[in-house]
Amino acid sequence: MTAWTRRQIGGLVGGALLGVAAPHIARGQGRPRVIVIGGGIGGATVARYLADLKSIDVTLVEPNSAHVTCFFSNLYLAGLRSLASLTFDLETLAERHGITIIRDSAVAIDAPGKGVELQGGAKLSYDRLVVAPGIAFKFAEIEGYDEAAAKIMPHAWIAGSQSELLRRQLKSMDDGGVFVIAAPPNPFRCPPAPYERASLVAYYFKQFKPKSKILILDAKDRFSGQELFQDAWSRHYPGMIEWLPSQFTGAIKAVDVAARSVVTEGETFRAAVANIIPAQKAGLIGEKAGLTDASGWCPVDPVTFESTLQPGIHVVGDSIIGGDMPKSAFSANSQAKACAFAIAASLTGSPQFPPHLFNSCYTFLAPDDAFTNALTFAPEGGRIKTVKMLISKVGESAEARRRTARHAVGWYSAFTADVFGGGS
Ligand SMILES: Cc1cc2nc3c(=O)[nH]c(=O)nc-3n(C[C@H](O)[C@H](O)[C@H](O)COP(=O)(O)OP(=O)(O)OC[C@H]3O[C@@H](n4cnc5c(N)ncnc54)[C@H](O)[C@@H]3O)c2cc1C
Repeated sequence: MTAWTRRQIGGLVGGALLGVAAPHIARGQGRPRVIVIGGGIGGATVARYLADLKSIDVTLVEPNSAHVTCFFSNLYLAGLRSLASLTFDLETLAERHGITIIRDSAVAIDAPGKGVELQGGAKLSYDRLVVAPGIAFKFAEIEGYDEAAAKIMPHAWIAGSQSELLRRQLKSMDDGGVFVIAAPPNPFRCPPAPYERASLVAYYFKQFKPKSKILILDAKDRFSGQELFQDAWSRHYPGMIEWLPSQFTGAIKAVDVAARSVVTEGETFRAAVANIIPAQKAGLIGEKAGLTDASGWCPVDPVTFESTLQPGIHVVGDSIIGGDMPKSAFSANSQAKACAFAIAASLTGSPQFPPHLFNSCYTFLAPDDAFTNALTFAPEGGRIKTVKMLISKVGESAEARRRTARHAVGWYSAFTADVFGGGS
C-alpha cells in the first residue's frame, strides 16, 4: 500500500513551487475536515484539541517548522533564557496527535467554495476553517519604518530572528547608551510586555552596562500594570527607566534609521539601540479574506469564534476583536479550546457547552520579582466581558513575588506542553 506520510505531503506542496502541477488535496475520507491556518498559540491549540477527538481530520498550514514563543522572550533579551528553550518543533503535533502539517502559507480563501490556496500552489478544501494568523504591523503609521528598517531597529514583537537581532544589539551597545522603546497604541499584542521588556533589559544593564538608560516613548498616556511597574522601577532600577507618555511628546511619527533617531511631534531622540513596536492589526490573511472590519481586527461570535463576516470560518487569537480579553497567549489558548468544541459540535453532533474563557498572565519585573493577573470572561450581548479579575498588588512581600516568579516557570512548561502537544 502506498501512503503519503505527513512530511511527504509537505514535500508535495513544496513541489508545486518547483513547477509540479498544483495538487488538489481532497477532504478526509469519511471524516469531516478542518483546516487551521497558523501554527502559533491559537492555531496549534485548536488543531491539537480537534485532532484529539479522533473524529475529525485536521490539517495545519504553517510556514515555519517550529514556533518560538513571544512569552518569555523578554527573559531571553536579558540573557536569562536561551532561544532554544523557547522553541517548539511542530512535528510533535503530527507525531503524537495525528495532525497533517503542511509547511506553507495560505494566500487566499474561497469562503463560498470552502477552499484555501497556498503560496506553493496547492488548493485545499475544508468543511470548517480556522484562521489564527496572529498580528501584522501598520508600518505606514511611522514614516521611515518598514520591514527593511526593522532589520536595523527591530520590533521583536514576533519572536525568533527579531529577538536575536535585538539581543545582539543590546549586547554590543556601549555602556552609557540610551535604549529607546517605542510602545504602540491600543489594542496590541500583550499589553504589559513593552514594560516587562524595559524592566528585564534594565536588569541586564544594571549588571553589565550600569551607566545606560532606557527611554520609553509611549503612544498612550496610561499602560497596563502601570503602578506595579513604576513601583518596581523605583525599587530595582532607580533613575534608569524614563517613561514619556503621549501627552508629553506626542506619539512617535518617524524614524531615521541611518541616524538611529526616533522623531515625535516635538522632539528627536537619538538611540544607541531602538526597539520600534508599531501599531498592530490582524494577520494579513484575515484582511485578504474579508474577515476584518474597519478596526483592522476580526469580529467573531463570542461563543463559537465563528466570523460574523464569513460563515464557516472561525478566527482565534490576537487577530480577533476580543472584547475585554487581552491579546495574549493564554487568551488565544482559551479561545481555541472553546472554538474546537464548537466546531466539533457542529460537525459531529458532540454536545456544545458554554465557553470557559480565561486569561492569566505572569509578568517579570526582575528574575525573582513577578506579578500576575487572572481573569475570567463570559459572552454577554454579543461580546466578551470580564466576570472576575484578580491582580497582584503594590506592596506584596518579596517572598510572594519570588513565589509568583517560580509559578511562572512552571506555568510556561505546562502551557507549552498543552499547546504543542509535548511533555510526558
Ligand atoms: C514580548 C512579548 C511577551 C509576551 N508575553 C506573554 C505572556 O507572558 N503571556 C501571554 O499569555 N502572552 C504573552 N504574549 C502574547 C502572545 O505571544 C500572543 O498573544 C500569542 O502568541 C497569540 O497567539 P496567536 O495564535 O494569535 O498568534 P501567533 O502565536 O503569533 O501565531 C500566528 C501564526 O500564524 C502563522 N501565519 C500567519 N499568517 C499565515 C498564513 N497566511 N498562512 C499560514 N500561517 C500563517 C505565523 O507564522 C504564526 O506561526 C507576549 C507577546 C510578546 C510580543
